[in-house]
Amino acid sequence: MVPRSALRVLIAAVVLTVCHPVGATSASMSPPLPPIRVAVLAYRGGDHANAVWEPTIRYLAGRFPDRGAEMVPLDLPGMEEAVQGRTVDFVLTNTGNYVELEARHGIARIATLQSSRTGTSGASVGSALIVRADRADIRDLADLKGRTVLASDPDAFGGFQVAWGEMVKAGIDPYRDLKELRFSGFPLDRIAFAVRDGDSDVGVLRACLLEELAAEGRIDPGRFRVLAPKAPPGFGCSVSTDLYPDWPLARLASTPETLAKAVAVALFQMPANDPAAAAGGYAGWTVPLDYQPVHALFRSLRIGPYRYLRELSLVDIAREHWQWLAVAALALLWWAIHSLRVEHLIKVRTAELHAANRGLRHEMAERRRAEEVARERQKDMDHIARLSILGEMASNLAHELNQPLGAISNYARGCTRRLEAGTGDPAQLAGATRAIAEQAERAGQIIARIRNFVRKRAPQPEPMDVNDGVHAAVALCEGQARTDSAAITLSLAGDLPPVLADRVQIEQVILNLVKNALDAMADTKPGGAGDAVRVVSIRTGRDREGRVEVAVADRGHGLAADAKARLFEPFFTTKPGGMGLGLSICRTIVEAHGGHLWASDNPGGGTVMRFVLPATTEEHRDDR
Ligand code: ADP
Repeated sequence: MVPRSALRVLIAAVVLTVCHPVGATSASMSPPLPPIRVAVLAYRGGDHANAVWEPTIRYLAGRFPDRGAEMVPLDLPGMEEAVQGRTVDFVLTNTGNYVELEARHGIARIATLQSSRTGTSGASVGSALIVRADRADIRDLADLKGRTVLASDPDAFGGFQVAWGEMVKAGIDPYRDLKELRFSGFPLDRIAFAVRDGDSDVGVLRACLLEELAAEGRIDPGRFRVLAPKAPPGFGCSVSTDLYPDWPLARLASTPETLAKAVAVALFQMPANDPAAAAGGYAGWTVPLDYQPVHALFRSLRIGPYRYLRELSLVDIAREHWQWLAVAALALLWWAIHSLRVEHLIKVRTAELHAANRGLRHEMAERRRAEEVARERQKDMDHIARLSILGEMASNLAHELNQPLGAISNYARGCTRRLEAGTGDPAQLAGATRAIAEQAERAGQIIARIRNFVRKRAPQPEPMDVNDGVHAAVALCEGQARTDSAAITLSLAGDLPPVLADRVQIEQVILNLVKNALDAMADTKPGGAGDAVRVVSIRTGRDREGRVEVAVADRGHGLAADAKARLFEPFFTTKPGGMGLGLSICRTIVEAHGGHLWASDNPGGGTVMRFVLPATTEEHRDDR
């Protein structure tokens, strides 16, 4: 059994032998050249393209018998695709499409179609803008504003784009300034008829069409007028625009140089009366013309390869919306001026505030200094007052001190006598020396109390029991009380809350009140019968508001109306050697502690001096 693969090889060999006769063996070594493929723009469909361009392709095929030539009719997108895919060797297309493909894909013209009517430059494509001869209101391109215009197609180069460029030069944007812009399509002669019949104010014709229609007798040239007519040198037709080069034949970048040269030569050699030229409506081929003016036109219109320029530039936006931009600029200017003004005001106010602040700081420093001076003065005054009150009590204090000193002296003498007589019983002597020590201690306590009281010091507030202050003050004036044969009775509450106060100052206040009470009773009968008894009663307790109250009551001469009114005035005194500072300082001290000091009549005669101090809060107690 023959294997299937071997069978396939055998069949292939037979087929190859049949297709290539033995005599052709040497030719089959190099494969036959493919035909020259020419893409042709079929802007009016394949049939029209065939009729117009097929003879030209046949002419080329005749010039290249070894490979022939074939025509590939394509529309605009098809052209792009063929060039991009390199499926053709040459491109025969209109001027506008050529410029686009050149810019995008680098195709290069090798010959330009020679029109039967050309100017001396060789260019032949242009437009004539026609109006009816009797339209005296449209004389210039600028008169197109607000008119109806009919052209062939937006993509037609000579049929619209060239005229468009001319309109823009005259300051007319056909898409914005016209009343209406319409496109007729083919055939183009209907444009002339529409203008003639008044269906459109203006018509755009490719150059020479008007003359051709007139020659054919289809229109009366006298009924038309070409707007802004130009007469390019050597060009037989009337046009409203410049002239541009006609269709080119271009090679692709991939097309071999030798082939391109050979095709160009073949085209240049085509006689003007060749049937191919006659079919294509041209008069042979010429060297490629300059297509830069077409680029310039497209760039100004932002079409074709320059469509990207349509992306709005800032300048365009500014030109379009200048009113709004002006308003925005004004608003911005106003805002800038406003901001500057606000900033300036802020700076001025800040400077003023700084100055005021400096002034305030200076004032506060001054006030602090003044307060400091006042505090110092107060301290001095307190001190002087304490010295003064002790000075008044000096004789009594000396007497007080004399007692232990005298006792010490007696005990010491007794001891000496017994020791000298040799009768000193050690137990008795020890008792005497113990007594000496006790008396010395008592004297020491008196001195310590006095020293404590008169020491110059800054107030030190701390929680204290007011009853302690009463005891300390009484200890200092007990001597005077004894001298004056007066009694001091105490009635002190046991459950008093502490007060936050300076111990010595409170003692000073109580001592002052007791001393004044003793002084007021100088004329009262000592220990006499009836109400007139020299007694100073000191009572402590709490008032209705929970404050700690101290009352010092006497049975003295009481307060006259004048004394009642001026009691707390500095230097008010009714005593011959008095300074009149005691009570004013006492009130200052009590008020500095948040309390209050006042006088009232004692119902049984005499005076009651009272002061209250706020009880310490929990917080203060915790601080201890
Ligand atoms: P001084 O004791 O040096 O006179 P004070 O300021 O202590 O100064 O007292 C002022 C005056 O108030 C006394 O001179 C006295 O007239 C009067 N005064 C003070 N306490 C009493 C009192 N308990 N009874 C009557 N008068 C008093």
